[in-house]
Amino acid sequence: MSEARWRECVRYVRSSMENAVGALYVREAFAGESKRMSDLIGKIQEAYVETLEELSWLDAESKEKAREKAMAIKEQIGYPDHILQEENSKLDQEYAHLNFSEDRYFENVLQNLQAGVQRSLRRLREHVDPELWIIGAAVVNAFYSPHRNQIVFPAGILQPPFFSKEQPQALNFGGIGMVIGHEITHGFDDNGRNFDKDGNMHNWWSNFSAERFKDQSQCMVYQYGNFSWKLAGGQNVSGINTLGENIADNGGVQQAYKAYLKWVEREGEEPQLPGLDLNYKQLFFLNFAQVWCGSYRPEYASQSIKTDLHSPLEYRVTGSLQNFAAFSEAFRCKQGSPMNPEVKCRVW
Ligand SMILES: [Zn+2]
Repeated sequence: MSEARWRECVRYVRSSMENAVGALYVREAFAGESKRMSDLIGKIQEAYVETLEELSWLDAESKEKAREKAMAIKEQIGYPDHILQEENSKLDQEYAHLNFSEDRYFENVLQNLQAGVQRSLRRLREHVDPELWIIGAAVVNAFYSPHRNQIVFPAGILQPPFFSKEQPQALNFGGIGMVIGHEITHGFDDNGRNFDKDGNMHNWWSNFSAERFKDQSQCMVYQYGNFSWKLAGGQNVSGINTLGENIADNGGVQQAYKAYLKWVEREGEEPQLPGLDLNYKQLFFLNFAQVWCGSYRPEYASQSIKTDLHSPLEYRVTGSLQNFAAFSEAFRCKQGSPMNPEVKCRVW
């Protein structure tokens, strides 16, 4: 079950010294794509708001609140500025009291634990710092914080296959575009919807829309709950535990696709990739599937199906695409076939 030793070490150092590792990583490997990324976030936000108009289960009042909340989402991209500033002593201070030695791994770990606890306890009576980064820069992941109504894209995820200025826009929208939509939609999933645009727990829903939200979600609870995962000994996915992630996956791919079509309308179709008989719409979906490509050991599958809030990777792909008519159009899936079922679930 354990990882290769070097991976374990890298993971440990990265998570206990996020900013130091982040600074090294950004200097070495980050191309500085923050402006492009910010533009892309704007496009997906716009697509989210336009999508609201298609939803008949949401009344006008809740639609307006959802729009306000989506437009109020704050973003953090890449890395916190101070980690690269020579004149800024914040990073040095963060590690000033740590005294590591090369041959004392156990003592080093104790020091890290102590420093971590002291850091959190210090924050206990302080005002919330909106500038504080909730994750290091060298992480291949993205986040939504309901308490801050904020999305975060560390430098680590701003690379292929998710994102590159050298790759076709179809891949960027299907990759990082879908991730942006996923994180935005977390603000409106079964947990995020309980917080308002300022991140306070406050019910902004009409009774009508709140009731309908539950009906729309229930469809996905059944759909994903019916996936039986061979690798985990045929156990079924928990449609309830994974609901929030599934709502985000479905919303994300739909918003990114809408934003991509708008981009094509404005900029024109991209040339086909040589040697690949796929049109630009198919490429979008290809990269969507590609970024979730991965493998599990059976032992890990059995454990993660009980604990992971995400559906297994293959169902993250097939689950969201079964619900999306545009996918069936792009690949000509016959009505009633597994990827184009009659019943399609949709929340956002
Ligand atoms: Zn998520």
